Amino acid sequence: MTPGIAIALAGGLAIVAWIAARSFLAARLRRALFENSLDAVARDALARWLPQAERMPAALRDRLERLTAVFVGEKAFAGCGGFQVTPETKVAIAAQACLLVLGRNTHVYDRLHSVLVYPSQFVVPGEWHGEDGVVTDEPRVLAGESWDVSRVILSWEDVDSRGDPGEAYNVVIHEFAHYLDHESGGAPWIGGSGARQRWLRLLDEELERLRALAESGERTFLDPYAAEDRGEFFAVASEAFFEEPAAFARELPALYRALAGVYRLDPAAWIRNGG
Ligand SMILES: [Zn+2]
Repeated sequence: MTPGIAIALAGGLAIVAWIAARSFLAARLRRALFENSLDAVARDALARWLPQAERMPAALRDRLERLTAVFVGEKAFAGCGGFQVTPETKVAIAAQACLLVLGRNTHVYDRLHSVLVYPSQFVVPGEWHGEDGVVTDEPRVLAGESWDVSRVILSWEDVDSRGDPGEAYNVVIHEFAHYLDHESGGAPWIGGSGARQRWLRLLDEELERLRALAESGERTFLDPYAAEDRGEFFAVASEAFFEEPAAFARELPALYRALAGVYRLDPAAWIRNGG
């Protein structure tokens, strides 16, 4: 073996050892965060920001608190445009994001590195595809954005304005639903090609139905913005699924059942059982 090959081999081994050590430490940190869960102050904050938590079965609430502790401990939160991130801000965002993955046995937003929080809606420059596929370079004003799997951007004003009764507006659920969609290539973690095809067929049927209703000016249960495309449909439907589950199950029963299968959760039952 020449000295050059030996040095390259040693370098390669060092990198492998470094990666192994890093993932070992990350797994250990995650276990500790999960086992310690939230403290009493953070648990109170979670209950304030996520009224659904009070109604869900105790075992699910316990898991939600632990997942939230992992999210808060693992992800970097950055205040932008003068916004000050507080421990309560973190719990508010983390708990709502973790609601979406509560029914899964896999890890929590593994590839997500950071959450960026602006005080209010923010301006994003650059080219984008508008309605009808028209490309424009007008800056957009957004309440949230999730364009890749390493970060999510939110406007705190919009996070804070959720929860009006009868309104299913929840920017955290919306953006993290987009995140899950990106992470799994447009059919959120549905195993098996048959199930995936059934999900996409239903999604397209419901999307077409919503478009037809919206175009004829009729009332729609989902915000008509959902008619934009598959991605927006999934994000808007996810907001309504968690924020207005009982009405959703009544108005769009087939879609409700499909989403209950996707999320492996039945939030309408939490309300029935909670009285
Ligand atoms: Zn969206």
